[in-house]
Amino acid sequence: MLSFVMAAVLGVVLCQVAFVVTTVFLHRALSHRSLTLARIPTFGFRVLTWLMTGIVPRQWVAVHRKHHAHTDEVGDPHSPVVLGFPRVQFGNVLLYRSAARDKAVVGRYARDLPPDRWDRVLFDHGLLGLALGVGLLVALIGWQLAVVAAVVHTVLYLLGGGAINAIGHTWGKRPFENLATNNQWLAWLVAGEGLHNNHHAAATSSRMSLAKGEVDPAWGIIRLLVAVRWATLRQTSAGLAPASAAASAAS
Ligand SMILES: [Zn+2]
Ligand SMILES: [Zn+2]
Repeated sequence: MLSFVMAAVLGVVLCQVAFVVTTVFLHRALSHRSLTLARIPTFGFRVLTWLMTGIVPRQWVAVHRKHHAHTDEVGDPHSPVVLGFPRVQFGNVLLYRSAARDKAVVGRYARDLPPDRWDRVLFDHGLLGLALGVGLLVALIGWQLAVVAAVVHTVLYLLGGGAINAIGHTWGKRPFENLATNNQWLAWLVAGEGLHNNHHAAATSSRMSLAKGEVDPAWGIIRLLVAVRWATLRQTSAGLAPASAAASAAS
């Protein structure tokens, strides 16, 4: 029994690693170029993305950039305003897959990320990556515990991703004038992505916490990457003020 609990905990930990990989690599580095990663961490992130999520980075970037280009209007791949909250919260992966398969979307929004040799041989084959990831788990802890860890990881990752897109465009604070919302409790669970109103206000900021009291867990990891010279930042939150502050300053 105890080992099954430990396997579930391992699933939670793996999911947290996957959220960090998603926000630091796929989102902040590749989609918005808010930080540049050196070759070694880039390759490490590519391997982890492949093994832990099966996501093809070029596709994720394209779908996400389309979300920023058409936020909460027709054309947004996963808007709760357009598609309804339950469909985005619980069916996010299906919405993602139908947008990611659209070659026109990838061609238009991820032109700067053409596939290289590694992609063609390995990283473009998402299911192979996932199968290898699960195979590694089986080899390390046996198939029964691996199933528990993999299911926990998968369910939490899909619900967390859905929550960023659904809750993060429905409930929470809106200090800046955009349709996304800030939820600190969610930010703790999904490596900072719950501060989504901040992100839509400053998409090229590598840091998602902007106001006093806000915490972006992935920011600590980014600072560590910068400290060991594995990353350089484009900019932080300099010069940004919440809409309410700007309004009161103007009045
Ligand atoms: Zn958004
Ligand atoms: Zn974004």
